[in-house]
Amino acid sequence: MQRIFIDPENDRPATRDLPSGVTMPGDLPPPKEVKFHPSEYGSEDASIFFVGTATTIIEWAGIRIMTDPNFLHAGDHVHLGPGVSSTRRTNPAVDLHNLPRIDLVLLSHYHGDHFDQKVETSLRRDLPIITTPHAQSHLTNKDADSFTNVSALDPFTSVMVEVKGTAGPKRRRLRVTAMPGKHVPSHSAVESLNELVNAIPPTNGWMLELGVGDADDATDFVYGYRIYITGDTLMVDELKEIPKRYANKRIDLMLAHLGGTMVPSPALAPLALMVTMDAKQGVQMIRLIQADLTIPIHYDDYEVFASPLDDFKKEVEKAGLEGKVLYLDRGDRFGFTVREA
Ligand SMILES: [Zn+2]
Repeated sequence: MQRIFIDPENDRPATRDLPSGVTMPGDLPPPKEVKFHPSEYGSEDASIFFVGTATTIIEWAGIRIMTDPNFLHAGDHVHLGPGVSSTRRTNPAVDLHNLPRIDLVLLSHYHGDHFDQKVETSLRRDLPIITTPHAQSHLTNKDADSFTNVSALDPFTSVMVEVKGTAGPKRRRLRVTAMPGKHVPSHSAVESLNELVNAIPPTNGWMLELGVGDADDATDFVYGYRIYITGDTLMVDELKEIPKRYANKRIDLMLAHLGGTMVPSPALAPLALMVTMDAKQGVQMIRLIQADLTIPIHYDDYEVFASPLDDFKKEVEKAGLEGKVLYLDRGDRFGFTVREA
């Protein structure tokens, strides 16, 4: 298993081009609202701050993990493939240059609504990033200006993230395992066309496990909280492998990328292609994964997001799954508990 090290004591800004006069804040902005895992209220030691799109910041024991950094503002355009762009409707809950220290980035795929041009220019080059092989090659092919600490994972392979400064039998660790994701249906005519036009990049989901392990044994890991992040995927057969692999293992939380994103396909014009889950697929995903709780993200930030959150809420109610879903607005924080491992 690959190993990487993060160092929360290395107190440097996430970006390398802080405007003059701006200093790095020590923390995220105060949340608009704080919500909790319903069954565990009162003992929270970790949280997720919802920035917008698929951007979240997960905080636990002094560590900050950022997912799919996208900090464009309302009215900004994002490039999503040859001849395809979309306008952002919303603002992120924190600005790129007002981020506190970030220790690790999980990037599901190399696409403008998950890693925009400003983010790509600004992030400090040695920020640890875990992503797909495709994104890794884009981030590391820039000669002098490449990112220098990028790990790539294929589905069901893992990297152990070691937290510097913690030692002994209960060293804090994160185990990140890539999950399959499909932006376009498998084995379809569309898929071969897509490969041809190379419009839609390959994508990963993640199983992010927060836990501890013996510092002297690189493979030792006892999980304390397990988060499945779907990435931009449709509800496809490849995902059925996930509950098989995690049978009898509790998945505490699912962060589901919804939005029913409709991307006009240059190869198929005038047809548009749905490339992320809509409301119905989101409910199918809840049933498949059986996570203790689901939080939808990536649902209304761009004009190409065609399936509103209200549709998902209706489908959830129709399915009688209201108790299994929690809704966050941008700027809200979700508190949870990493069990004593
Ligand atoms: Zn997306």
